[in-house]
Amino acid sequence: MVICSKCGKREAAFRRESSGESLCLNCLFREMEDTVLKTIRRYQLIASGDRVGIAVSGGKDSLVLMHMLGLFRRQGKIPRDTYLLAFSVNEGQPFSCFYRMSRVDIVKKIADEYGIEYKTFAFKDIYGYTAADISQGLWSKGKNTHMCTICGVLRRRAMNIIGKQHGLTKIATGHNIDDEAQTVMLNVMGNDLKRFAWFGATPENEVDEDKFIPRIKPLRLLREEEIAIYAYYHGIPLMELECPYVYTNPRYKLKFTLAKMERDNPNIKYSLVSFGDNLSKLVRKGVEPTIHKCKYCGYPSSREVCRVCELFQEAGLLDYLTKMERADKQEEPTSSNASTAS
Ligand SMILES: [Zn+2]
Ligand SMILES: [Zn+2]
Repeated sequence: MVICSKCGKREAAFRRESSGESLCLNCLFREMEDTVLKTIRRYQLIASGDRVGIAVSGGKDSLVLMHMLGLFRRQGKIPRDTYLLAFSVNEGQPFSCFYRMSRVDIVKKIADEYGIEYKTFAFKDIYGYTAADISQGLWSKGKNTHMCTICGVLRRRAMNIIGKQHGLTKIATGHNIDDEAQTVMLNVMGNDLKRFAWFGATPENEVDEDKFIPRIKPLRLLREEEIAIYAYYHGIPLMELECPYVYTNPRYKLKFTLAKMERDNPNIKYSLVSFGDNLSKLVRKGVEPTIHKCKYCGYPSSREVCRVCELFQEAGLLDYLTKMERADKQEEPTSSNASTAS
């Protein structure tokens, strides 16, 4: 029997290759929670009075995030007056990431347990079009844009729109160390130094055109497989129905490349993220603040036309702007959103 190298009492159930430790589940979970709390405190991710949105995809990461933030608030480890709103966005493509959430009941269970509000939104209601509409428009114009790009660009803007409607001060996502390490690799491989300006944990110095409401990533130093174990033992089933588009997403291949590299260098993910954080500090100093405004939607953008409008324009659906205006006007008098935003 291998004994836990932390407590020296219980039987170890998990070997952490990066440190060579063998841990019991108790120590593993406590350490993971401590790591998340340290990230929150070190970068002051959540302050008293914050209204934090939790972006829920239905995957284990965002559910563990929801569980931990609910738990920390109950324990007073983050301010008890923090308002938490979990939300999901239905992209509306045939295999929408939203439909991975075949287990909405689990999301609701966590929400009920910790008194977290939960709402769902749809691209169709926000933009007047679904991701499938845009993809179809792009195809018909001979543009081969990856579905993950469409969903990614529109989801970021949607989070901002939802956040504004609900008076959110931060939006938390379930990104883990694997996601973050992949981002560093992708930025390097794409020779995209500027993108490092918006890499990191801190909501300060936001320069991303889409990041009006600061994004926070409390789980960014947790490893994916440890999150999976945490989820399993906290009643969160692993129902990773992968979006079928993911298999052609460059991130997907990188996952395996990183896993291979990790065999020779167990700390590689941590090193990559730490390198990205340090580089980010340097790059931020040299990046000019965004001063342009998109000529169509008015969002700050480094270019004449922002990425969202560019996609709609290329798909021949730029009338989304008038659809959004109409939706805004219709909503105002009876909106339940308006009442919670105050
Ligand atoms: Zn232990
Ligand atoms: Zn625009």
